[in-house]
Amino acid sequence: MDSFTLVVASALAAIILACSMGLIYRGGARQACLLDWMAAGVFFACNNVLGALAISYQASHYLIPGVGNALYVAGHFGILAGLRRHLGLRTGWKQVLACAACIPLLHALPFLQSSVMHRLFVFTPIIVAINLGVAVTLWNHVRRGEWAPYLPLAILELFFAFQLTLRAAYLILGEGHALTFMGSQFLQTSGSLFVLVFLSVACMSCALIVTHQQAQLLRRASLTDALTGWLNRRALHERAGAEFRRCRGIGGALFFITFDIDHFKLINDRHGHATGDAAIRHVTTLAAGALRGNDAMFRTGGEEFAVLVAQGGIEDVVAIAERLRELIAASPLVADNKTVRMTISVGVAQMLDADVAWEDLLRHADEALYHAKEHGRNQVTRYQPAYGKRIEQVRKAG
Ligand code: GH3
Ligand code: MG
Ligand code: MG
Repeated sequence: MDSFTLVVASALAAIILACSMGLIYRGGARQACLLDWMAAGVFFACNNVLGALAISYQASHYLIPGVGNALYVAGHFGILAGLRRHLGLRTGWKQVLACAACIPLLHALPFLQSSVMHRLFVFTPIIVAINLGVAVTLWNHVRRGEWAPYLPLAILELFFAFQLTLRAAYLILGEGHALTFMGSQFLQTSGSLFVLVFLSVACMSCALIVTHQQAQLLRRASLTDALTGWLNRRALHERAGAEFRRCRGIGGALFFITFDIDHFKLINDRHGHATGDAAIRHVTTLAAGALRGNDAMFRTGGEEFAVLVAQGGIEDVVAIAERLRELIAASPLVADNKTVRMTISVGVAQMLDADVAWEDLLRHADEALYHAKEHGRNQVTRYQPAYGKRIEQVRKAG
């Protein structure tokens, strides 16, 4: 393929990058990093269109490489800026665009005007630094186990920096004397090919990063209760199953605390549904403060909650449950000049040898909770095997 065809193909790849990022943004993934990557695509496209014009018209005015290099630097920086924004870091667009705007002026200097070699000498380190900047940013800010969607971009940027350094070194040290404005054919063609590959893979890599993040946000939303921010029943199924198997495997203890607000219907009836919602949020906020960091908290129903505890002994867990009950009884919700007092009934159960699944453990905690309700509410009850039989009898009688 001749240089002109490759430069036009690169322009198309850059336009595809810009359009893809813009379409994904408009399609619902409203992440600002997509706009940075779209800008990168536009800069690369302009750079390649300029390159195609330069080849067609054999342009040699210093402004052509000057503007081209400015666009090229801005294009590469756009990829880095998008990544930094995606990771919640400052982009530095303003400073870089201000510097890029000076690049065409720099090309008026005789040193840069006189030789392609001198321009390579100045601009290759800048592009390589930006490429390495992407890899370093990823290294510093992506946690282990979360690398998968970022790997293609990291490899691409490292590979591009490597080939750029190699080609520039070869040109500067060896072949330089033979280079004209559009360069020796092989090196020029391979360089354009690398740009084409870079733009195509960058497009896929950026799309991968965003779609992966979207999928994660959706998954998080599907596991989170909208009212309280606690995990929901679906999350309970995932977590409890895994935790049950893990504790069985290592012979560790596992507990469930379940609790339910007493006479909650009265709160709704007296104060309205909105205050009822506020009461549920109030209870979860208090509970989050009373529980420990590793205890997984779930909203399993309207005003019913479960806490999965995988550390300590039964006495510790009962003590936590008692602290929780006391805290809620002593901390009424104060809203709209109303004071809403609440109590909870709590059940605690420990994993038994006979339990075959986490549902057995949860059922035992619920049976203890039921016992607490039956015996006056506002109390903590530890599961006893007799409760299950008693509940069965009540159900049969009903
Ligand atoms: P008990 O002491 O036996 O638990 O009595 P209770 O009145 O609390 O009875 P129950 O637990 O069965 O009541 C649950 C009520 O919670 C019924 C429902 O109207 C209400 N509820 C369920 N989800 C929500 C919610 O998201 N917001 C509000 N405000 N109320 C809810
Ligand atoms: Mg209730
Ligand atoms: Mg209930």
